[in-house]
Amino acid sequence: MSVTENDIRDMSRQNPFEIAQRQCDQCADYLDLDPNVHEIIRVPRREIHLYIPVRMDDNSVKVFRGYRVVHNDVLGPAKGGIRFHPEETIDTVRALAAWMTWKCALLDLPLGGGKGGVICNPKELSAGELERLSRGYVSQLWQFIGPDKDIPAPDVYTNSQVMAWMMDEYSRIVGKNQFGVITGKPPQIGGSLGRNDATARGGLYVLREAARACGIDLKNASLAIQGFGNAGYYAARLAVNLFGSRIVAISDSKGAILNMEGFDPDQVYQYKQKNGSVAGFPGATFLEPDKLLELEVDVLCPSALENVLTANNAAQVQAKIVAEFANGPTTPEADDILYEKGVHLLPDFLCNAGGVTVSYFEMVQNFTMYYWEEKEIHEKLDRKMTGAYYSVLNTSREYGIDMRRAAYVVSVKRVAEAMKLRGWV
Ligand code: GLU
Repeated sequence: MSVTENDIRDMSRQNPFEIAQRQCDQCADYLDLDPNVHEIIRVPRREIHLYIPVRMDDNSVKVFRGYRVVHNDVLGPAKGGIRFHPEETIDTVRALAAWMTWKCALLDLPLGGGKGGVICNPKELSAGELERLSRGYVSQLWQFIGPDKDIPAPDVYTNSQVMAWMMDEYSRIVGKNQFGVITGKPPQIGGSLGRNDATARGGLYVLREAARACGIDLKNASLAIQGFGNAGYYAARLAVNLFGSRIVAISDSKGAILNMEGFDPDQVYQYKQKNGSVAGFPGATFLEPDKLLELEVDVLCPSALENVLTANNAAQVQAKIVAEFANGPTTPEADDILYEKGVHLLPDFLCNAGGVTVSYFEMVQNFTMYYWEEKEIHEKLDRKMTGAYYSVLNTSREYGIDMRRAAYVVSVKRVAEAMKLRGWV
């Protein structure tokens, strides 16, 4: 295959933080943004680099690198997940922190944007090593986090157990229970009901409205799910349960499977638990994972990592709606191509904002010591997500711009206004 000019342009721009900055620059042009606001929001406000020594099971000590970045906290304390990933980089964490700022602002949450990461492969750590790493991260960072400062949460390869250890470590250090320092905890120790599937559920509420706007009936509609972690699995499962959609393709890092009749997501999940991948699921056709992105389906759901839809493959996308359950799956070049093709794209910081929205509900419950029923959480989440979808859709129509640019317009306006009010600019 020959390398085109577009490929080269795309390859040189895969750094997620540069992408986040370019998106921000584009938005500044649309909004005629105050250059002082622009100067501030292009970069994080604070970043902390950690070297975390961990006692391994063989008694040796291994030092892991970790980060915590606060992009902006003008609207309230910083909020955002922690990723444990072997390919984590500071630039990815910077980009993800910035996207959290826009996510919280878009959902009108009184929170800023932050993100954390540790370079490690949790699949190769024992439970004890993972616990010591989680506690080590907090014991080095505790002065910089807290319920009114910066509140971490789960993300790629971290879960409620990791959050439980982190909350416990922080509480131990400060000498009192501080449930509100972390969200995504197990419900028995201050977690919120409905947090586990919140990212997917929130995205599906947005998808429901988007399908309505596009005249697509989600009953029997075909969905392709790229990535089968927390977001991808629950998105598949809830799309079947809530709408009766067909999950025709599912991928993970090792392979993709296809069945036009539709999969039972729970069976595929159990198969993956047992065999380490969805690949090989009985009765399914095997696909190269990249091919899933080009299937003729109603909805494509990128649900794993960054830079999946690029200048190299966006023209081949045949889905009518792209719902970004992952953070940063689409490069700016791909955005333009998809928009020109008429694909209705639900941008990440809208589509996957359900997680942080229920995290915010968790914080409110921790502060008030009063815990809500799951139904109440679903209703409140639905209102938030539906409201955010229409504010983005209306802005995109008003300005004649794509949905991602429209989401930026809504969020950046809110952050800029808060900066003016606080006298930062
Ligand atoms: N990690 C999730 C996200 O990217 C959730 C963050 C949170 O709950 O604070 O939105």
